[in-house]
Amino acid sequence: MPIIRKKLIAGNWKMNKTAGEGVTLAKEIVDAIGRETAVDAVLCPPFTALESVAHVLEGQAVKLGAQNMHPEKNGAYTGEVSAEMLRTLYVTHVILGHSERRTYFGETDAFINKKVLAALANELKPILCIGETLAEREGGSTLAVVQRQLEGALAGVKPEQLTSVVIAYEPVWAIGTGKVATTAQAQEVHAFIRELLTKLYGAPLAQKIRILYGGSMKPSNAPELLAQKDIDGGLIGGASLEAKSFVELVKAAMAVS
Ligand code: PEP
Repeated sequence: MPIIRKKLIAGNWKMNKTAGEGVTLAKEIVDAIGRETAVDAVLCPPFTALESVAHVLEGQAVKLGAQNMHPEKNGAYTGEVSAEMLRTLYVTHVILGHSERRTYFGETDAFINKKVLAALANELKPILCIGETLAEREGGSTLAVVQRQLEGALAGVKPEQLTSVVIAYEPVWAIGTGKVATTAQAQEVHAFIRELLTKLYGAPLAQKIRILYGGSMKPSNAPELLAQKDIDGGLIGGASLEAKSFVELVKAAMAVS
C-alpha cells in the first residue's frame, strides 16, 4: 500500500502583521478552512502576534508556528526566545534555517542543528529550510549544498524523532522574487532529498517525511507543483499574507490529496 503523506501548507508571515492585523488575517483563514483536516495548515506570525493568533486558532485545525527560536533553554541571549517559551503559547511548529536567517543573521548548519535538536527535545516540529543560491545553482552545486545543509541540520536526530521534522526545499533565488522553480527542477531536488533521507534513515521512514516546496508559490503555480510525487506541500511567504491566496493554496493542496 502506498504511503499517503498529508499535504501541509505553512504561511511564513516574516516581519509582517501587527498582533491586531494578525488576528484579522487568522480569523479570515479560520472562517474559510478552520475545520479542514484533509490538509495540514500552519500559520507562522512574528513573535509579537503569536499569543493573539493562538487565541483565534483555539479549537481549530489550523496550527501555530514560530519563525525562529534559540537553542538554549534560557539565559543571557538578548532578543531571543526559547522552545519552552514558544510551547507555552501553544506553538506546535517552528521554521528553522530559513535562508533569510542564514544570510542576514549568519546562521550556520551547526547552529541550525542545535536548534533542530532543541525543538525536537521540546516537542516542537521543525520546518527545516534548505536550498541553494542562484550562484550555487549556476555553479552546478545545488545537490551538494542541499546535502550539506540537510546532513548538517539533522546530525544527531534519532529515527523516532524524524517523523516530527518537516523539510522545506526553498531555492533562495525563488524566494520573494516571483521566480518559481520549474516543477522539474523542484521535483528533482525533492526526490534527491528523499533519497538522502532513505540513505540516512531507511525507506519506510523517508517515505513518511513531508518535503515542502517554498519560493514564490502562489495559487496559479501551486497545482502543478503540488501534483509532483515528492512535493508534499508549500512554505508560503508573500501569498500567505492575504487570506484569499492562502486559502486557495490550501484548497489546491486538498484537490491533489
Ligand atoms: C519564504 O520566505 O519561505 C518564501 C517561500 O517566500 P515567498 O513565497 O514570498 O517566495
